[in-house]
Amino acid sequence: MITSLLAATDLDRTLVHSARAAGPQVAGPVLGLERVRGVVTAQLTRRCAARLGELDRRALWLPATTRSVAEYRRLDLEGRLGVAPPFVVCAGGGVLLTGGELDGDWSAVVRDRLAGVAPIGEVADVLVRHLARLDVAGPVRDADGCFLVVRVRWPAGWLEELAAECDVRGWRVVAHGEKVHVLPAALTKGAAVEEVRRRTGARRVVAAGDSPLDADMLEAADAGIQPVDGRLHTAGRGFAHVAVTTTTGLAAGEEIAAWLLAQTEV
Ligand SMILES: [Mg+2]
Repeated sequence: MITSLLAATDLDRTLVHSARAAGPQVAGPVLGLERVRGVVTAQLTRRCAARLGELDRRALWLPATTRSVAEYRRLDLEGRLGVAPPFVVCAGGGVLLTGGELDGDWSAVVRDRLAGVAPIGEVADVLVRHLARLDVAGPVRDADGCFLVVRVRWPAGWLEELAAECDVRGWRVVAHGEKVHVLPAALTKGAAVEEVRRRTGARRVVAAGDSPLDADMLEAADAGIQPVDGRLHTAGRGFAHVAVTTTTGLAAGEEIAAWLLAQTEV
């Protein structure tokens, strides 16, 4: 497959938003993608969905999400958006889906890249020990065996102490609000995006993302965009080649989709 433009995008809080992250009311219909216990956890506007459909026709759209494979499949992009991206990066780069199926070659590459770091079970024990100090038992969720996620309110210093113990094991800690990700330092979305670029021979890569877990993917892209209210931007992380939206929430999702579409004409 020869596609000149590869558009790698995060999903949550970049193109799809939970009810809580939806921001100001937008004009036009909204398409729900996921509900958890009756609460909308992923939605986008119809206009945004239409733009992504157009993007998928004009370029190689590569969703690159922190979601596990099961969480990604729950969005049912094919059923709801009529779009079946040929490649999807899940679990923060730990899993590549090709044609909707697990790509064993990439899994082997990831295993090699992570050969020198502590196994997930050992790091889970470290995390559980630190959680016990807060009287929190979890639940600690593991994303396809690639990394750990927990929701917790932590006191000053807790995160740093956890990070220090993870660091010596080759793992890093990235916190978004109360969501704490503990992942191998060598596990990145950017590496998986680069693999897809290599396989497809794409000449130009553009990227969109909101969080510190998207930073390496944005940094490596030829151009990119991040939401003005994203964790990365509010933490003061910017890149000369990465634009910033003027809108927030669902409207920013539309703005990002429009920006990506405009890149197909560059
Ligand atoms: Mg995100």
